Amino acid sequence: MREVRRLDFAVDISERALDMATGLESTNPWLQQPQAAAIALFRAIEARKYAHTWRKENPIHVGACGISLPDRDHFTAYIHGANFKPEQYGPINTHAEEEVLYAARSVLNVLAVVGDVQPDDNTGLAAETLLPCSAVCLPMLKASQSLESHSLILSANPDLSVVQYYGVPELNKVYETGDVGELITVHLETSLAADDAEWNEKIFLPLIDRIVERLSGVGDLLPEQ
Ligand SMILES: [Zn+2]
Repeated sequence: MREVRRLDFAVDISERALDMATGLESTNPWLQQPQAAAIALFRAIEARKYAHTWRKENPIHVGACGISLPDRDHFTAYIHGANFKPEQYGPINTHAEEEVLYAARSVLNVLAVVGDVQPDDNTGLAAETLLPCSAVCLPMLKASQSLESHSLILSANPDLSVVQYYGVPELNKVYETGDVGELITVHLETSLAADDAEWNEKIFLPLIDRIVERLSGVGDLLPEQ
């Protein structure tokens, strides 16, 4: 299957990028972040297939995947979520990120959200990707003990043509100021239909570069266990 092949490829590229990230301690668990980001994006695309909404026209389907930092026993958790809203005014309305955060039991290295783009319901804020909503998901993200300042959140369009990433403080600031410039945006001229070389050049290398850059000041910072 093509997606699976791409995932293997992405992991391979990410591992090579990690080798290039000098000056970081090998014991730093955040070092796995570029690799985890690539995996989480693909897994969020898969999780999105389980999304369900009452809306027949312009349905919003969202998938999410959180990947934890390895714990003391080197155990890494992969947690998936999809939005679920069977009725317009019914009691059930689960957001994809919400599912991941409910299930998370340790600090997340990355949280990827892939969904159809729409402006935020409450604030009308429009970004190039679907951001966690201000009404439900932002308060949860802020309160969650599973997110630390170096936890990376990625939002992407379903074809990965636009990937945006940020931390909780940046997302909070975006909603406070309405300035989406707080988000780091990677535009890709290609899509899932591109060949592997283009995929590598335009999607993963720029993304990994930026993640490595973001982590370069982290040094040997270890999350509290
Ligand atoms: Zn939400």
